[in-house]
Order: sequence, then structure tokens, then C-alpha cells
Amino acid sequence: MHIKRRSFIQTSFTAGAMGIMPQIAYPFAMPDPPRKATLKLSCQEGVAPEGSLAEKLDFLEKNGFAGFEVGGGNLTGRVSELQKALKGRTIKISAICAGFKGIIISEQEPIRRQAMDSMKEILSAAGELNSTGLIIVPAFNNQTKLGNLEARPILVDLLKELGEHAVNVKSRILLEPLNRKEAFFLRQVADAAAICRDVGSPGISCMGDFWHMTWEETSDLGAILSAGAYLHHMHIASRKRRKMPGEDEGDNYVDGFRGLKLLGYQDYVSFECGSVGDKKVTIPTAAKLLREQWEKA
Ligand code: MG
Repeated sequence: MHIKRRSFIQTSFTAGAMGIMPQIAYPFAMPDPPRKATLKLSCQEGVAPEGSLAEKLDFLEKNGFAGFEVGGGNLTGRVSELQKALKGRTIKISAICAGFKGIIISEQEPIRRQAMDSMKEILSAAGELNSTGLIIVPAFNNQTKLGNLEARPILVDLLKELGEHAVNVKSRILLEPLNRKEAFFLRQVADAAAICRDVGSPGISCMGDFWHMTWEETSDLGAILSAGAYLHHMHIASRKRRKMPGEDEGDNYVDGFRGLKLLGYQDYVSFECGSVGDKKVTIPTAAKLLREQWEKA
């Protein structure tokens, strides 16, 4: 029987609607009406030029940054310090970068539980700071003896519990894929998104890091679109040495920015990088380059 492609697709969808085919909830449905994406630049605390917290925030605000990313270590003890420092400013806390204890996919249950307790505590502080979420890496290389087949269902199961806590405290988990030199478990943005889909909690989402994506993705655009509505944070650095965007020859983010625009991305693009030059000069220069590339995308 000859079936034209269009009618085959229609038949497949009809069969899916009738429950003959498995139903998969794809996340990348566009908001209705579609929201216009904006480039909201963020900078990690340790990446900003040396100085007091107030001096860092002054510098970033002066250069048009919208977000400030802090580490999760002792975040509970820093909530009031950060709230005071941010009062009356336009810059906000973006994501919280790791800083938890334990390993969520350790082969040892007590170490997994330590990670859960520690992440819950940081999530609560993240919620108080109206942060977009807590960045986590399930395990760096050599941190777990579990293989993918064993680790993944354990992770999905624990993320259900963590997602519930995140929703309760009005924050979320941001799963971060790394390049293979750092982590074999979770290397690609689409894999992180598939874990989010399997967990099925609004408290569990993912992010992309242009530095790691350089080594693991075949297309920035494809990776970002594959994450769809699960994508809630981005890290950025130069693509050869992880310095300021623009410090390596040919640094280009246009393809990825096009993906963020197509998604109507509302979250931050955050600097996680070193610098070859004086940061007081290289940060504004990098921000200018990114704004130009955003316009081109
Ligand atoms: Mg990163």
C-alpha cells in the first residue's frame, strides 16, 4: 500500500490520540502567545572583578548585567547578606551554582541521602532569594561506581522527591551536562531534558553550558531546541580556553542564541569563565559581543 508521507503522519497522530501509540509529552510547545526572548546577562560572583559584594554588584549593574550567580556553599548563612546587598538594585540573583555535599548517584545510599539533604537546604535558601534554581551535576567522573543503567533510575526517583521540595520552596533544580573529561554521566542537553521529562516535576529542569556544549553537542541550536521548556539557565565562556566570550578566536554563539529566541527564553546567560585580560575591561567587551551576536541571531 502506498501511503503519502503527510497522511502517514496524520494516521500516526490519530493512532496516538486513540491510545494505540505511547503518548509522550513533548515540552517544547511554544507559549501562547509566544513570548519574546530577551538576553539577560548574568555573572558568577567569582568571575566578577575583585572587590566587595557591593562593588561587584555596582560594576555588573553599570555594565547592564541583570543577574548575579552565587555558589550554594553556606547559602543559608548568606541569605540576609545577599538580600540586603540586592535591595534597591535592578540586578537579581540568577542561579545558585552547586555547593552541596554528597553525590546524588553515589553507589552508597548514605552519600545519596547526604546530597538530598544538602540540596534541599540550598533549594530553600534559593527560594528565599527568588533564584531561578540550583545547578547540580549528578556525579563527576570517579564519584560513582554506578553505570548509566543503574544510576539513571536512581536519579529519576530521587529527583521526584527533590522536585517536590523545590516546588514547595518556589525554586527548581537545574541539571547541568558537562563534557566527558569531567563527567561521563550526563553530557548532553537533550539527555538532561529527557531526565526532566521522565521525572515530570515542574521543580526539575535543565541548563546548557556553551563551554561543555562545544565538546559534546553537534549543534547548539539543536541542543537548545531539544531542551525546550525544560531549559532554564545557560553558562557561557570562550570556546577554546574557557575564558571571556570573545577572548578565543572565532567565539560564536549565534546558533545557540537563535535557539533561545525560538524558545522565547526568559532566563539568564551567565558568565562562568576566566579571563586573559583585566576583567574590568574584558567583561564589558564580552557583554558587547554577546549583545551584537544576540541581534544577529
Ligand atoms: Mg557550567
